[in-house]
Amino acid sequence: MPGLPDLLFPDIDREPEYYEARYPARGLPDGAMVTRLGPSPTGFIHLGNLYMAFANERLARQSGGVFFLRIEDTDDRREVEGAAQAVIGSLGHYGIGFDEGPLPGGETGAYGPYRQSLRGEIYRCFARKLLAEGKAYPCFLTEGEIGGIRARQEAAKLTPGIYGEWAVCRDLPPEEAARRVRGGEPWALRFRADGGAGGHVSVQDGIRGRLSMPKNAMDVVLLKANGMPTYHFAHVVDDRLMRATHVIRGEEWLSSLPIHIALFEALGWTPPTYCHTAVLMKLDGGAKRKLSKRKDPELSLDYYMSEGYHPAAMREYMLTIMNSNFEEWRLANPLSPIGEFGFSIEKMGNSGMLFDLDKLRDVSRERLLTIPARELAEFMADWAERAAPDAARLMRSDMGSLERMLDIGRGGEKPRKDLAYAAQILGHIGYFYDELFRIEDEWPESVPREDIAPLLLGYLEGYRHGDGRDDWFGRLRALAEENGYAAKPKDFRKSPRLYRGHVGDVSAVIRIALTGRRNSPDLWDIQQILGEARTRARIAAAAERAR
Ligand code: GLU
Repeated sequence: MPGLPDLLFPDIDREPEYYEARYPARGLPDGAMVTRLGPSPTGFIHLGNLYMAFANERLARQSGGVFFLRIEDTDDRREVEGAAQAVIGSLGHYGIGFDEGPLPGGETGAYGPYRQSLRGEIYRCFARKLLAEGKAYPCFLTEGEIGGIRARQEAAKLTPGIYGEWAVCRDLPPEEAARRVRGGEPWALRFRADGGAGGHVSVQDGIRGRLSMPKNAMDVVLLKANGMPTYHFAHVVDDRLMRATHVIRGEEWLSSLPIHIALFEALGWTPPTYCHTAVLMKLDGGAKRKLSKRKDPELSLDYYMSEGYHPAAMREYMLTIMNSNFEEWRLANPLSPIGEFGFSIEKMGNSGMLFDLDKLRDVSRERLLTIPARELAEFMADWAERAAPDAARLMRSDMGSLERMLDIGRGGEKPRKDLAYAAQILGHIGYFYDELFRIEDEWPESVPREDIAPLLLGYLEGYRHGDGRDDWFGRLRALAEENGYAAKPKDFRKSPRLYRGHVGDVSAVIRIALTGRRNSPDLWDIQQILGEARTRARIAAAAERAR
């Protein structure tokens, strides 16, 4: 008659030592961190994944360690086809790459498989060991029975869960358990918690410092009735065998930390350094709340892709919210590559991290200034190919002009800082393209309606495309004077009765004619990019409209 371990795990013929030897310590230099990202392949990649990935990646990179991807796909109901490649693609867009994992070119790394669904044999081997040592047991409670227990616990205001007296299968005689297994009853494997009541575990959290938490008393499930491991069990086995040194994960896992510590202990292993980050919060009507998948489109990474936030801006902002000393560093090192900043776990906050779109935009406006126009033009065209294909065709047909459009007003002492993200930038430059040009604003109220056509026609007549900036402006002043407008705003302010307006009013008319808007960058620059024919055509069309 086989014992329970053989009965429950007839297929397992390897010993734990086999895996320990197959996945040996990595032999990296002291201080090298091995970190990982363990997304569930739900197809929804959010800001939390991005910032967690970024923190993990930074720590591995700057310590000369390893950053690997592990797909946590044991919950098959949630599996979405291609989700692993989607994670890799999205993170790649933000410049985050993995050293190991189920990468597009094939599985990379000596510590795989890197999909939990392919590691069943490994989990079962260690589950068997725990069972054999009396640290786990088969539990035959059905979902209905567990529901009943929960209801009774709730009625009695007790902590819900399977523990102590509620763990009815904990002390079943092995023969009875064996009989029920042989009889075909479904079973889950539960951990035999030794916590009991009282007692604390003390853990050093990389972000939060020393924590003292109540010891785990729950007989948590290690293997579900379908044979799949739970997160608790799978990640403990994986992080051991993949030799992770640091686990940076969300605060939502903090409460189950005592379970994980107990599992490491039961398996005779030293846990990695757990680092629990703060949750992403936003300000909503003055109050802080968690970002929500349902209410906040900005939680999804797709949002940043479709709005076209530059990856460099996103990385910059991530660091701004993740490391309290980053902004100071940036002020002192405005042009240094981000990789030179010493990212540290200790500087990560441990309470609600405020995510603020306005702040992201500010950071982005600053960052875009450091990106050469040529690169920005490529970025815009790439973005448009995904988000605005018609605009992409226009951009691609003349990349040189796109570059110039994006570069207007960016140089000098006081560069413009109004370009934040691609969708908004397209709004700013759209008028350069005849296909996107629209009259958005009215003629300026300060100019009498009957002056508009004559001003435009006069402008058209005097227009010399080859004029330099100063000559052009000289001509504009002359035009203003000829039409009864002051050549200088200050003359007009001194004696408003003498004039119909001033040169600024005249240029406002030209501006609407050329761009359709009241606000635009420098007109001379705009005309140089539009070229003579289109400049003239727009002025003529506007004069026609104003008649
Ligand atoms: N699969 C877990 C999640 O998606 C990973 C948590 C961890 O990093 O350990 O939340």
